[in-house]
Amino acid sequence: MKFISTRGQTEPVGFSEAVAIGLAPDGGLFLPEQLPDISGRLGEWEKLGYADLCFEFLRLFATDLEPAVLRGIIQKSYQGFAVPEIAPLKRLDDRTYVLELFHGPTLAFKDFALQLLGNLYEHQCAKSGQGINVLGATSGDTGAAAIHGLLGKPHTASFILYPDGRVSPLQERQMTCTGAANVHAIAIDGSFDDAQRVLKEIFGDQAFSAQHHLSAVNSINLARILAQCVYYLFAWLRLPSPERGNVEFVVPTGNFGNVLAGWMLSRMGVPVAGFKVATNRNDILHRLFTTGEYRTGEVHASLAPSMDIQVASNFERFLYYTVGGDVAQVRAIMAEMKATGAHRFADFKPAGFSSSRATDAEITGLIRSVHDRFGYIVDPHTACAFQALDPARVSVVLATAHPAKFPAAIRDAIGQEPVHPALEALKAQPVVKHRLPADAAAIKAFIAGRAVS
Ligand SMILES: *Cc1c(COP(=O)(O)O)cnc(C)c1O
Repeated sequence: MKFISTRGQTEPVGFSEAVAIGLAPDGGLFLPEQLPDISGRLGEWEKLGYADLCFEFLRLFATDLEPAVLRGIIQKSYQGFAVPEIAPLKRLDDRTYVLELFHGPTLAFKDFALQLLGNLYEHQCAKSGQGINVLGATSGDTGAAAIHGLLGKPHTASFILYPDGRVSPLQERQMTCTGAANVHAIAIDGSFDDAQRVLKEIFGDQAFSAQHHLSAVNSINLARILAQCVYYLFAWLRLPSPERGNVEFVVPTGNFGNVLAGWMLSRMGVPVAGFKVATNRNDILHRLFTTGEYRTGEVHASLAPSMDIQVASNFERFLYYTVGGDVAQVRAIMAEMKATGAHRFADFKPAGFSSSRATDAEITGLIRSVHDRFGYIVDPHTACAFQALDPARVSVVLATAHPAKFPAAIRDAIGQEPVHPALEALKAQPVVKHRLPADAAAIKAFIAGRAVS
């Protein structure tokens, strides 16, 4: 299997190369040259456990890895999850299920992709003898999941910048209390935008970046999307068969990465009724699906911070399919969006999609009503997905984070704070962080002194 760029100006590459380079050299995102048709395999996959299903699915794409190697990487990636089902599907009532994606090491769904990516990187380092230094900026969950994906792995180090005092105390502990020597949490004096600016400047110094084999943590790596397809498939196979064709997956969305994976899976021959894109007050995608206009706005802080995004970086992959693979059109639309921050689609009605938006006050109300109705506690991101469920469908809501990560929001809604033993244990660990100014030279000097080779 080869992977092509959405912008069509990169030679197709194999799986390992697409994973290693992340972004295609022409600025596009990698996609499989062809989506396989898996409809004939669903029966035989019904009884598989999570890791085995993941192996059967990913081997269709990772054709340049030895099957035994791929199997080993997958097993390692999901063995640290706290429950044997890995992604339990819980039934709340006749029409409503929750797919719990928060049993990984950092209690958010990003672990599904970043555990796998960490093990893929480790394999590549072992094969090439070349170390890798991962550099990223985070406002919360991604940094923690990336750090835990590489924790203690030989020949790797992670350098994660975050705005000092502006991530939640528990998220900071997940990054700074690991005790691992290859993790460097850098609390910068400034905002998240300052962190991103510095990051760009460091990657912009190509000599420095090449010398230290820097690699970006981001949401556009192909392996992340493919890893995420698996839990949709796993959930679909666990639904009673009469319900499967009527299911709507309801997905709390920021970068469009999570919901894109489900939609791509459906295009591989898994029949579903649709997908709902659930946003918070940063509703660029809700506006797109209701008006046909994609227009970036200002980002506002919300109770669901991991969805505080106004540029949905994975949207380009969806765009590619929407315009029927016309790469010239993808390039033109992306250029227009870059120049003007907007694009109006003439007739934008992608089949099977609906959308919703929840303000902070609505998020609080939804946490309360889900608790009242089902005796179930959802985190603020997952709460957005409970906005206006379609009564004519069977809804599978993707629960993207454990509620104990957001104790204050839950307390405000239902008067109690959920706890999780892993988070409680962190409270006893020493915080190890490096305070640095939001200055590329200072951070480069820090990295140069600690990078692996
Ligand atoms: C990252 C994140 C999201 C948004 O996921 P996208 O792939 O960006 O759509 C939603 N919920 C939580 C808890 C997250 O960490």
